[in-house]
Amino acid sequence: MKRPPSLFVSHGSPMFAVTPGLLGPNLRALGDSLQNVRAILVVSPHWQTRGFKVTAAEQLETIHDFVGFPAELYQLQYSPKGSPSLAADVVELLRSQGFDVSLDADRGIDHGAWVPLMHMLPSSELPVLQLSMPMTLSAADALALGEALAPLRDQGVMIVGSGSLTHNLYEFRQHISDPEYAQDFAEWANDAVMSRDVDSLLNYRTRSRYGARAHPTEEHYLPLLVALGASSSDDVARLVEGGMTDGILSMDSFVWEAA
Ligand code: ZN
Repeated sequence: MKRPPSLFVSHGSPMFAVTPGLLGPNLRALGDSLQNVRAILVVSPHWQTRGFKVTAAEQLETIHDFVGFPAELYQLQYSPKGSPSLAADVVELLRSQGFDVSLDADRGIDHGAWVPLMHMLPSSELPVLQLSMPMTLSAADALALGEALAPLRDQGVMIVGSGSLTHNLYEFRQHISDPEYAQDFAEWANDAVMSRDVDSLLNYRTRSRYGARAHPTEEHYLPLLVALGASSSDDVARLVEGGMTDGILSMDSFVWEAA
């Protein structure tokens, strides 16, 4: 049986919810092609905690965790069912590998998770879990987390790291348009993913020309390392093309699929 993929998805700005661009339809095609998926586990930078937390509610409420966007975004609802039993399994799996992790019975799903899922699986009945990112998470930690989660794929869980391939919020807020550097970084990352150059992806700030500019803070890059960690060298890596939005946000995404 083919196991579900590991995915890194760029969610860019919350406007992606209503402007699918190039990525929305590509995610939809990916969603339509999924096989043997029993549940989805999403890691998003919009849930940062002390230690790791896993959602354990029966139903995940839509969290509109953004301010200053058009009213229509706050009307959108994507509230998948959760899976308290799978959440307990995830806690056990991570604890057995030394992670400090606990259940959160109240937390819903933030826009880093629901916006891409809404494009990929608009009317899915699959349970969704979200796993938080500790505030102290490093690049090496993110890769190790993905490696720890990898066995879940054999149990039918699709692992999704949601971030943004480039994410300079200062430039976003200043409306700076400089797609060349963002594209340069996106192409560098694509080459490194396709050649499975884990070492370069871990050390992206020094190995790429624009890593530090593309990610002044690391939280939107780290989910790429989680997804990479959850992949294996047997998987086939593929670019899910997302194009560029807002002059500097690369929406390019990557999927690692069982061959
Ligand atoms: Zn975000």
